[in-house]
Amino acid sequence: MIRKITTLFFVILLCCAHSLYAMGSLLPHRYIPVRVRVMDGVEDVSVRIKGPYKIMDQVTEKVLSESRDMREFSVSPGYIKGEGIKILPASGARVYVNNRQFRGTIDIIKDKNNRLFVVNHVDLEEYLYGVLYHEVNHNWPVEVLKAQAIAARTYALYQKLVSKNKYYDLTADAYSQVYGGRTSEKWRTTRAVNLTRGLVLMYENKVFPAYFHATCGGSTTDALTLWNIDIPVFLARVCDFCAISPHYRWRKELTMDYLESMLKKAGYDIGIISFEVLERDSSGRVTDFLIKGKGKDIRLSGNKFRLIVGPNLIRSANFEAEKKGKYVIFTGKGWGHGVGMCQWGAFNMASQGWKAEDILLYYYPGAEIVRVE
Ligand SMILES: [Zn+2]
Repeated sequence: MIRKITTLFFVILLCCAHSLYAMGSLLPHRYIPVRVRVMDGVEDVSVRIKGPYKIMDQVTEKVLSESRDMREFSVSPGYIKGEGIKILPASGARVYVNNRQFRGTIDIIKDKNNRLFVVNHVDLEEYLYGVLYHEVNHNWPVEVLKAQAIAARTYALYQKLVSKNKYYDLTADAYSQVYGGRTSEKWRTTRAVNLTRGLVLMYENKVFPAYFHATCGGSTTDALTLWNIDIPVFLARVCDFCAISPHYRWRKELTMDYLESMLKKAGYDIGIISFEVLERDSSGRVTDFLIKGKGKDIRLSGNKFRLIVGPNLIRSANFEAEKKGKYVIFTGKGWGHGVGMCQWGAFNMASQGWKAEDILLYYYPGAEIVRVE
C-alpha cells in the first residue's frame, strides 16, 4: 500500500511541476458536479450578470429569457412561476448573487413557505477554490493547504455520494464546509487545490467523511465515541503539534442565567445547582456530564452540552466546569469536535517539513490517497 501511495505521489509530483508554472493549464480531470446550497429562507435574491446568459425553468429547462449583461435585479418568490429558475451563464460570463461571485450555474428555488433558497452547481475542484480560504489561513505552508484540500475534497465527495436531498449535496455553512464562491478565492489556496487535483482519501476503496477541526488540544477523539462511526481512520491520535495553537487551552466565564436560558431553549428547564463530570473518553473529552438541578437532574454528553450552550463559547468537549457564585468558569482544551485532522497540528507539522500525504495518514490512520478518475 505504501508503495502504491508513494508511486502515486511521484506521478502527481511530476504532473504538479507543470501547474507550478501555469495555474490555468491543468491536468485534464473528470468534471464532478456538486450542488451547494449557498442561501436559504430568504425573501429575495439580488442577481447581476456580466456577459451572455440564459434563464431557464429549473425543472423543464425551458428557456425563459436569453440576453447579456443583466443589471442588479431582485428575484422575489413572485417572479418565479414554476418551482424555480436556473441561471446559465455563457463561458466567461460572470454571475453575482447578493454581490458574491459564483462559478458554475445558479438555481433559485421557491420553498414551501414561499421563501427562496439558492443552489450553486459547480465543479468539485472549483467548489474547493471557494472553501479553502474559509477553512485554513491562506498564508500557511503549502503542504498544510494541500492536506486541507484533500480532506475537504474527500468530505465533499462523500456528501455528494450520500446526499438524498433533491436539490443540494452540501450547505455553505459550518455544518458542512464554509464556501464563499469565487469571491473567496485566494491564489495560494487555489494553487493547493490544483496541486492535489482529484486526490481523495479512501478506506477499503471507499470515500469516507474526512472530518477535520481547528485544534484537538492534545489528542483527537474517536468518531465511534462521538458519532458511532466505526472505521479505524477515525481512531484517536495523540497530537502535541497543536500546542502552538491559540486555541490549545481556553477559558470562558458564563453566567448561570445564560446557561439556564440556553438549556431551557433546548428543552431542559432547570435551575442549576451544580455540575459534575461523570465520564471522559480516552482523549479527555466529557462523555457524561451531570447537571444537578432544582427538582431534576440532566445528563448530557460534553459535545451535546457545548452545542446547546454555543460551540464557540464552550470550544470543545474537553473541559472542566467550576461554579463560582453567579458564574461558571469553563477551562478546556482545543476547538472543535476533535475528529480527524487537527488543522493547527497539521500547520505545525507542515512548518516542520511534513508532506501533505504524511500529515493526512497521521490523522486518518490506514487511509489511502487515490486520484478520482
Ligand atoms: Zn492537535
